[in-house]
Amino acid sequence: MKVRVGLVTAALLLLGTNAMAAQPDGTPYYWQVPGADERTLQNAGFDVEHGVDGGVQVVGNARVAARLTALGYQPKKFDTVYKPVPRTGDIGVQTFYGGYHTVAEHEKHLDDVAAAYPALTQVYDIGDSWRKTRGLGGHDIKAICITRKQAGDCALNPNSAKPRFAMIAQLHARELATGELAWRWIDHLTRGYGTDAEVTSIVDTTELWVIPIVNPDGVDIVASGGSRPLMQRKNANNTGASCSVPSYGVDLNRNSTFKWGGAGTNRCGETYQGTAAGSEPETRAIEAWFKQLFPDQRGPGDTDPAPVTTTGVMITIHSYGNLIMPPWGWTWNTNPNATQLAALGRKMAAFNGYTVVAEGDTPGTTDDFTYGNLGIASYTFEIGSSSGNCGGFFPQYSCVDSLFWPRNKGAFLTAAKAAKAPYAS
Ligand SMILES: [Zn+2]
Repeated sequence: MKVRVGLVTAALLLLGTNAMAAQPDGTPYYWQVPGADERTLQNAGFDVEHGVDGGVQVVGNARVAARLTALGYQPKKFDTVYKPVPRTGDIGVQTFYGGYHTVAEHEKHLDDVAAAYPALTQVYDIGDSWRKTRGLGGHDIKAICITRKQAGDCALNPNSAKPRFAMIAQLHARELATGELAWRWIDHLTRGYGTDAEVTSIVDTTELWVIPIVNPDGVDIVASGGSRPLMQRKNANNTGASCSVPSYGVDLNRNSTFKWGGAGTNRCGETYQGTAAGSEPETRAIEAWFKQLFPDQRGPGDTDPAPVTTTGVMITIHSYGNLIMPPWGWTWNTNPNATQLAALGRKMAAFNGYTVVAEGDTPGTTDDFTYGNLGIASYTFEIGSSSGNCGGFFPQYSCVDSLFWPRNKGAFLTAAKAAKAPYAS
């Protein structure tokens, strides 16, 4: 979710993780707050979300609602955060909350795919998570390249023979469905090669790069809640912060080096931008990786369009909102390729039914970096609706295969096919 402004719920900070326990008073809900202004609420310290289907929503428990009431608002329960979780029958698979894969399972998945499809894949370690840089456990950040490999393919070199489509997911740890979509995408490309004509053509002609989990430390925190996942959005950097889980860390989608600044400055806030542009190891890892995948194809000016000959598409998957969002995030002004980005956005939306709308008010996003710095066609996808069993941050696991994957598969294939000339379509 693109939390547009602000600070985390002060009440959540005070209550800490015990607030997430099962007592009725501690159960978090999404609260609809009629007549409220997003920025006002965030400046007042609430965890504010914005759904296209109606107004401002605040995430929190009954004490958060009481704070809203004390300020003169009339919060109404909108939806539950936690959906009913069925028992899973998986043996030997590390999952949580009804089937979502842990970071360890995602890592094993990449290794398994690489072993099963050596002619189609190459796995890279592109850098370390914050905890790993501090010797506190943590993870390597893993990327996979998928293509029918010829000499020179899948190299970390921007002058590739084939056009490239890059997908990243779960940069915001609590957006559970996103890493699963990356998992399905990897399987679809590898298992479908040689049997599915469309997939075979794409894998023959395009390099498909995927980072399923950009923020593995954050996902570890989320998964530690088991059947009641913790609501960690940011990375695990708790330097100098007295915030409690799940409120510490830096928002990796406000930390990119393109036009950094102007997002949250409260270390415990959900949109905390960090101490400097690219201050976080996860940010530096993916930005270096993007520069290795794509040449700089756009001029330095804010109004310089990337030329029609530009190659490359990037999708960063978030939730929720049923949105396809091209840049800019750093300004409400339209970007110089806005018409072309909207056109490709609508082609993808023909499959998932999402609304195509530019971001705005989100400085430091990943897609501002990849579009602004490199010129490639870049999008944030916001998966899922605001409410219901398939809505919010924690949809039922079954929604991945019943709804999110079938809706988005065609959008991803469209993005991959557009990688050779995204602005020429
Ligand atoms: Zn997000």
